[in-house]
Amino acid sequence: MGFSTDAIHAGQTPDQVTGAVSTPIYMTSTYAQDELGVHKGYEYGRTHNLTRQSLEKNIATLEKGKYGIAFASGLSAENAILGLMRAGDHAIVSNNVYGGTYRLFELIMKDYGLTFSWVDTTIVSNIENAISSNTKMVYIESPTNPMLNLTDIEAVSKICRKNNLICVVDNTFMTPFFQNPLALGADVAIHSTTKYLNGHCDIVGGILVTNDDKLHERFRYLQNAVGAIPSPFDCWLTLRSTKTLAVRMKQHQENALKIAQYLEKHPHVKKVIYPGLRSHPQYELAEKQMSGFGGMVSVEFKDFSTAKKVLNNVKVFTLAESLGGVESLVCHPASMTHASVPKEEREKYGLTDSIVRFSVGIEDVEDLIADIEQALY
Ligand SMILES: *Cc1c(COP(=O)(O)O)cnc(C)c1O
Repeated sequence: MGFSTDAIHAGQTPDQVTGAVSTPIYMTSTYAQDELGVHKGYEYGRTHNLTRQSLEKNIATLEKGKYGIAFASGLSAENAILGLMRAGDHAIVSNNVYGGTYRLFELIMKDYGLTFSWVDTTIVSNIENAISSNTKMVYIESPTNPMLNLTDIEAVSKICRKNNLICVVDNTFMTPFFQNPLALGADVAIHSTTKYLNGHCDIVGGILVTNDDKLHERFRYLQNAVGAIPSPFDCWLTLRSTKTLAVRMKQHQENALKIAQYLEKHPHVKKVIYPGLRSHPQYELAEKQMSGFGGMVSVEFKDFSTAKKVLNNVKVFTLAESLGGVESLVCHPASMTHASVPKEEREKYGLTDSIVRFSVGIEDVEDLIADIEQALY
């Protein structure tokens, strides 16, 4: 089936009892058992929920995977990934990941005996050089947030296979519509469903997708044992949202490209970072491993005061953290999403105070461009 057909139908069949076309929201913590030891396969809400199962099947199908395991947030999904490791194990991680990922790994899990090497994974040989005898995992984000650096997923997957390492890719920015890490050889794709998959800025959630039976078994165990599950209502909202993922992503991309092209010519702009621009240093890799370029545009203005002017004066864009919703958002990564990353660390990879990140929504693009224009003057 095509992507949109799967998006609308995978994991969903009309309700057995009433024929309801929309998957019911099973708001229940427990299930009646027919007699001692006999039940319908549903025992307790943390372990089993049909709305959640529908969502898991739906996103797994879009991500070309066998299994989806849903969590209460992207970070709780990441926490389950770290549940594959034990004290003494080592992971190699992209040095420019989501700020919360850095915080969870470096500021929390390090205290539990895990160790991390933060490397520039845009240069694949850096990964090979960082492998040691206790390395278990390579964790990459592509494109990264907010620098939109790409890592060659196929090349990294090959290195992982050769060295018996688990390859994890955070695919939040591209979504399965534009990029499929599992098809490129990765073991696990992770999403913050809070972003494009849900797409309406009204829930927080996460999901892991894998084809590997053993990894699935461990993730399923952790989902139940740790208990960071999404609510049935949040699952339903996300399931409602994936139906329109294809049309939303096409519009996000069309608007983002127009804004990137407008800003690239602007006298107050030093640099526009968007994988769909030929000026992007990894434009060729973008064309190779992605089927589109997404809706995120990062812009380095000529100085901090210009950046501040944009952030404070936009009216259609909303100054807020997060991304991927139908509504356009703007943020200042250095002081917002990446505030927990030390200044020296972030400036090493180019995240200066003059960078503004635009999450381009699906409003009329003329209104979005006019909004940035009026904010600058
Ligand atoms: C938001 C985000 C996360 C964390 O997800 P939450 O749902 O906020 O917990 C992880 N990775 C990326 C790329 C993100 O944008």
